[in-house]
Amino acid sequence: MRIIFFGPPGAGKGTQAKLLSSYLDIPHLSTGEILRSKLNENDELSSKLRHVMTSGNLVSDDILNEIVSIKILEDGCNKGFILDGYPRTIAQTEYLNSFMDKKFMTINKVINIDLSNQNIENRIILRSRIENRTDDSLAVIRNRIRKYNNETKPIAKFYKSKYPLIFFELNGDQKIEKIHSEIINIVKKC
Ligand code: AMP
Repeated sequence: MRIIFFGPPGAGKGTQAKLLSSYLDIPHLSTGEILRSKLNENDELSSKLRHVMTSGNLVSDDILNEIVSIKILEDGCNKGFILDGYPRTIAQTEYLNSFMDKKFMTINKVINIDLSNQNIENRIILRSRIENRTDDSLAVIRNRIRKYNNETKPIAKFYKSKYPLIFFELNGDQKIEKIHSEIINIVKKC
């Protein structure tokens, strides 16, 4: 099963994607985690990435499209995968659609975990304290929320109108276990 987790920063996509990944035994592809792992490489790309990521801006579509298209063709993704943090722009969405078409693959579910702007801020502030994430200062958080509203949120509308049968919306302001069980119900509906 191929699944896209969608939603604002702090909505709990990563947590839910990890839970579902072990439930379905398919890889969790978090583009944020993949990019963070590249930051340790200390080359020219890593310093460019660090600059973009620590300011709350988005890394270029070309880099993300390349990373994801390589990952989803790896053997580990034969049974499916969970995308978390990608696509994040309409250009990435269009790229993913045409890439999947060319490979005769389809996305089975798009799960949108929603959260109010105030809750997004509170959750990210809490997470930055727990995880000591350098991309989570208040100015950066606000920039990330702005980017989400301007660049990423339109993707939900795109899937909702173009693929309503595979698009599901959940309230992210609920207990982790409750959201997880709602997600299990969604993936059981084949
Ligand atoms: P995340 O852990 O998903 O919040 O991602 C952390 C940071 O990585 C983001 O603020 C972006 O700078 C970058 N990033 C992750 N995924 C993408 C993407 N699909 N497109 C552009 N930038 C991304």
